[in-house]
Amino acid sequence: MKPISELQQHPGWTDWHWQMKHLIRSLDDLAACLQITADLPADLTPVAKRYPVAATPHYVSLAQAADLQDPIVAQILPRREELTDETDARDDPLAEERDSPVPGLIHRYPDRALVVTTSACAVHCRHCMRKRSWDCTRPSREKPNRDRILAYMRSHKEIKEIILSGGDPMLLPDASIETLIAALHAIPHIDLVRIGSRLPVVLPQRFTPAFCARLARYGPVWMATHANHAQELSPASEKAVLNLLRAGIPVLNQTVLLKGINDSAATQRDLCRALVKHRIKPYYLFHGDPVAGTTHFRTGLNRALDIVDELRTTMSGLAQPTFAFDLPDGGGKIRLEPAREIVRPPEGDRRFRDFRGFERHYPEPPQQA
Ligand SMILES: *Cc1c(COP(=O)(O)O)cnc(C)c1O
Ligand code: SF4
Repeated sequence: MKPISELQQHPGWTDWHWQMKHLIRSLDDLAACLQITADLPADLTPVAKRYPVAATPHYVSLAQAADLQDPIVAQILPRREELTDETDARDDPLAEERDSPVPGLIHRYPDRALVVTTSACAVHCRHCMRKRSWDCTRPSREKPNRDRILAYMRSHKEIKEIILSGGDPMLLPDASIETLIAALHAIPHIDLVRIGSRLPVVLPQRFTPAFCARLARYGPVWMATHANHAQELSPASEKAVLNLLRAGIPVLNQTVLLKGINDSAATQRDLCRALVKHRIKPYYLFHGDPVAGTTHFRTGLNRALDIVDELRTTMSGLAQPTFAFDLPDGGGKIRLEPAREIVRPPEGDRRFRDFRGFERHYPEPPQQA
C-alpha cells in the first residue's frame, strides 16, 4: 500500500467510483498508507476482525499527522477498548428493531419515519451507533423490501417526512436512489425527504451537479451530514455542499461528541464555525449512545453540558447546534439546554444567568386573575 500522498496523485482521485474501488479495508493497508505501522499496538487484529476497517482514500488524506491521536485517524483506527465495554453497552440500545413495523423501516415519532436503505458505508466510524450491522458473521435479518415499506407509508397519513438512512443511502446507484425518492414524493402526504449521509464529508466526489439535480427533481430534499471535527471539512466538501445548495438542497450537520476527538469547547467552536463557513447549518450535537464497542468515546452528560454552556455564551446563534441524546429502549430523543434560570418562583420575578455569568431579572407581564 502506497502512502496516501502518492495515491492522491492518481487521475481517478476526483471520481467517487475510483474512491470506492480503492477503499482501504484492512488494518495493514490503513496503517501503511497513514505511515503509522511502527506505532500500531500489537493486539488490534481481533478488533478489526469484530468491527472491520473501512475508509475512503479521500477521508484518510485529511489526516494531518502520522499520529494515532489525529482526529481523522482516531475515527477510523480500531482500538482495544472496543472489545472491553461496560455492561450497559448493547448492540441496539435504542431498540430500533422494536420500532420497526416493516423490516428496514423505523417509525418511532408520528410525523416522520426512517428508512434503512443499505448497511454499506464508505467509512466505518469507530463510534457508529449501528456498528452491529457491520457484523457479517451473524445471521442476516430479513432484507428491506421497498414495496412493503412504500405500502406502509401510503397507509400512514400522519407521516410527513421520510429520513433515508443506513448505512449510507448515497452509496446506492443513482437510478435506485432516484426511483426511491420519486416514489416517496408521489405519496401525497409526504412533504419532504431528508437524507442522512456522511458522504459530503467522507466522499464529497459523490455530489456532482448532475447527481444533485437528480436528487432534487421530485420535491423538497434536505441533506443531514455528519462531521465531528473541523479537519474533516475539505475544499472538496465545500464544492459538494455548493452543488447540493445550488440544486435547492439545504445542508445540515449532526455531530457526535467524542472523547479525545472533539470533547472541548474550543474544538466544537472551530467545528461549528467551519460548518457555517461551509454554508452548513449545525443541527444536532449528540451525546454518544451506550452502544457496544463505543463506550470509550462517551464523555458523560455533565461534561457535555459544560461544553454546550461555553458554546452558548461565546458563539454566533447561527453556529449553535441543539444538544441531544437518545433514551434507551426507544424512549426517543431528549434535547437539553444547560440551565440558565436561577430559581423559578411561582410567578413574577424570574431570574437568569446572562452570558457574562451575571444574575438578571426578566420582566413578565402582569398575571391575569
Ligand atoms: C433521530 C430520529 C429521527 C429524527 O428526529 P429529528 O429530531 O426530527 O431529527 C427520526 N426517527 C428516529 C427513529 C430517530 O432516531
Ligand atoms: S457513516 Fe454513519 S452509519 Fe456509516 S459507519 Fe459512520 S456513523 Fe456509522
